[in-house]
Amino acid sequence: MSGANAIDQSGILFVCHDCDALQRVPAVEPGCDAECIRCGVRLFRNPRGGIDKPLALIIASMILFVIANVYPIMTLTITGVKLTGTITDTAWVFVQQGSPEIAAIVWLPSVLFPGLTIAGLFYVLFSIRFQMNWPHARTILAWISHLLPWGMMDVFLLGILVALVKLVALAEVLLGTGFYAFLILIFLYAATIASLDTHTLWESLKDQSDNRNEFANA
Ligand SMILES: [Zn+2]
Repeated sequence: MSGANAIDQSGILFVCHDCDALQRVPAVEPGCDAECIRCGVRLFRNPRGGIDKPLALIIASMILFVIANVYPIMTLTITGVKLTGTITDTAWVFVQQGSPEIAAIVWLPSVLFPGLTIAGLFYVLFSIRFQMNWPHARTILAWISHLLPWGMMDVFLLGILVALVKLVALAEVLLGTGFYAFLILIFLYAATIASLDTHTLWESLKDQSDNRNEFANA
């Protein structure tokens, strides 16, 4: 089924990426498409499963994010000396060695930005799913769209793998729980982002704020 082919005063303004037609697009049912009223191209799709699927994925991502940041990424044994640490420990070593800019390059895109995005998405999705009407959800969703391009856990993982190839010749390397949690987290995080439809989120938050205003005016 495809929907949203009628001009409607509800919904949010949407510009067709093919013909530039500006139109109001109401919320569409899960599993359905919204099409442009002029050229018929698909504007967006409301993924099947609605909010439940991304909410379940983001809860799993939160748990893995905590594990990935609490448990060591790896343990190195060089001439009998054991070195072990989390991602934050690794960044802290750079600070202690007088390279805070490298620490920032490691820590911000692999810990802080993904952490804020995951926490923010949980806040927004939980608020929508259980109609909690939590404050500032729209502001947080706007911030998430700015933060998304800066989360680069996959780049960090690639860095670890390149370092591993060089380290195995010099030291005994034992991958830690944090590494495996981090690996699964990257796939879960990508699946969460793929399952999200920001249009539906904006529409749901708009409905919640409308309901709140009606309640306040009653
Ligand atoms: Zn169009």
